[in-house]
Amino acid sequence: MVDDTTPTFDASELGTPESTWAAWDHTYTPLDLSRCRELIVVAPHPDDEVLGVGGLMSAAVAAGIEVTLVAVTDGGGSHAGSPTISAEQLIAERPEESRRALAVLGVETEPVRLGFDDGDVESREADLAHALTQLLTGGPGTWCLTTWRGDGHPDHEATARACLTAAARTGIAVLEYPVWMWHWAHPNHPDVPWGRAFGIDLDADVLAAKRAAVREFATQIAPLSDHPADRAVLPPHVVDRLLRPVEVVFA
Ligand SMILES: [Zn+2]
Repeated sequence: MVDDTTPTFDASELGTPESTWAAWDHTYTPLDLSRCRELIVVAPHPDDEVLGVGGLMSAAVAAGIEVTLVAVTDGGGSHAGSPTISAEQLIAERPEESRRALAVLGVETEPVRLGFDDGDVESREADLAHALTQLLTGGPGTWCLTTWRGDGHPDHEATARACLTAAARTGIAVLEYPVWMWHWAHPNHPDVPWGRAFGIDLDADVLAAKRAAVREFATQIAPLSDHPADRAVLPPHVVDRLLRPVEVVFA
């Protein structure tokens, strides 16, 4: 039986290099934010919001759009078996990393933290959909941004499904941002809905802010020790893919 709490990709492999994506001659339809008044960004783990749509959030704040983060888990599962850091320490530290990163991007609104267990979102998907139904309100100018339902990580996919369920109840728009797709997919990959992909070009200032924001994720971007369980979750080749001057959402 397939263990459905395990990602469908191997994060310890190098994945598709950023040079391959950068060389792809693909033009995304620009995302038009003019009808958006409020963005509710739902993140399974503290860093997905910045890695996936940090530039979009920064541009939205600059355009006067209200941006709020909904954090599904506090990220206690990133270093299972670590001799250096415990789940409790991660749960204390990772939300603070996210808070500092969002401040760098100009997002100062107090986040909503739902406190689900990292790695176990899928088993509580109905509870998450119920919680999100109370939050994803606001009418036609409110957009929900969530991880992509096909991203390959069970927490990312369950979060997307719960957002889609909740938003169908409340009637607001949902856009999905890929994170791990850039690792396992390749240009023109048949499992990726390229036909509904929209791009957000990041200018130099926004990209610099996103780069600085990513540096706040100290527990994730560098090894915590030489122990295998302490290896970087977001080593440089992963971060490179997420600091491209364009972000993509599926709408
Ligand atoms: Zn994640």
